[in-house]
Amino acid sequence: LNSVVIVGAGQAGFQVASSLRQDGYAGRITIVGDEPGVPYQRPPLSKAYLLGKIGAHALRFRPPEYFDEHRIDRLHDSVIAIDRAHRCVRLTSGTSVEYDHLVLAMGARNRVPAVPGVELDGVFGLRTLADTDALSPRLGSIENAVVVGAGFIGLEFAAVAAAKGIKVHVLEIADRPMARALSRPMSELFAQAHRGWGVTLDLQQGLVRIVGKSGKVTGVETSDGRHLQADLVVYGIGVLPNAELAVAAGLDVANGIRVNELLQTSDPAISAIGDVASFTSPYANTPIRLESVQNAVDQARSVAARLMGKPVPYAALPWFWTDQGELKLQIAGLSDGHDETVLLGSPESRQMSVLCFRQGRLIAVESVNRPVDHMSSRKILGRAVTLTPAQAAEPGFDLKAYEL
Ligand code: FAD
Repeated sequence: LNSVVIVGAGQAGFQVASSLRQDGYAGRITIVGDEPGVPYQRPPLSKAYLLGKIGAHALRFRPPEYFDEHRIDRLHDSVIAIDRAHRCVRLTSGTSVEYDHLVLAMGARNRVPAVPGVELDGVFGLRTLADTDALSPRLGSIENAVVVGAGFIGLEFAAVAAAKGIKVHVLEIADRPMARALSRPMSELFAQAHRGWGVTLDLQQGLVRIVGKSGKVTGVETSDGRHLQADLVVYGIGVLPNAELAVAAGLDVANGIRVNELLQTSDPAISAIGDVASFTSPYANTPIRLESVQNAVDQARSVAARLMGKPVPYAALPWFWTDQGELKLQIAGLSDGHDETVLLGSPESRQMSVLCFRQGRLIAVESVNRPVDHMSSRKILGRAVTLTPAQAAEPGFDLKAYEL
């Protein structure tokens, strides 16, 4: 293996380059990334960085020198085609780069609400450093923000904006926040917390249009016909995997680039990892695509290990976190299809874990401000679990003690 080419310089792309060097790979590494600057992490874009608690330098995975020292070539360019027959990628600049192995780590992009007015000045998605840098100066001078979508990113933004004294109105089609990923009791704890911070949560409510004056947003119209004033609209209604290159190259794609348990695409000379990859997991019944740092990092490490001659089927436990106000939520496992929950702690204390069971088997643990529970549940879920709902519901039950 003399040349590994990585498309996308985000969490997954950076990690695969870094892990390859750590694992002793001595050949060429080229990362092609279409965003300017040094590769950076996204989570703080809607948290500490948006709040102004950390600067842009703190977002970087490594300083620029790291890439030279580790002979990782960075090309600020866009891959426009994969030529599988000649094993090379073609770039916007007209050049092409040859690979022995290609890693696709193009991530995902925001879904944009399909409503009139979305192009108005003052309407933002939140995905890149450029998005946050365009958005954050506005926070000092606005009164009313409308957030479209009560998912993780929308609510992280809502918590920051509320902390800055902005009136925040969240529109959400589902009947509870973060419904796609969280159990009902945890959703409810977050709904109450947001209301306590002064955020209006408008559930089972859609967005019909965004309205403006002289090109600038002034408000939105809701599905029940109300007009809400807004000098800023932020949407967070999910993402679409950047899988078009793979489709054009004839690789299998279905809600992301399909990979086998070794994270190889339908062409074994090409791997796909991170937000763009659709994979099978021992923690899910159907192929899944996860949008998390854990998934990007663990998949990158797995591909690096395979390329260095140590293939292991990918089976990492999914975990995730979100910070909203003083609430730090950590999730271990995937709660899809759970049919029973047991609570440790209480919503009132703002320290609570929800143990999610499916057919009597523990499949996920959501912990808010209970980091010890989270670490214990990662250990417990990572091995064959025998914990029953009845055991978990016993007074004084302690996950940490169970872990031993
Ligand atoms: P990305 O990080 O999106 O990187 C993909 C890169 O590829 C991008 O730079 C893209 O521009 C580039 N690219 C795409 N196509 C091409 C092309 N043709 N040529 C060249 N370059 C290309 N996860 C958590 O676990 N916890 C959190 O708290 C959390 N918070 C988040 C907050 C925000 C605001 C966002 C946006 C995400 C958050 N995430 C969080 C999710 C996490 O950041 C992503 O799952 C992770 O970044 C995925 O890594 P990736 O490398 O697959 O994709």
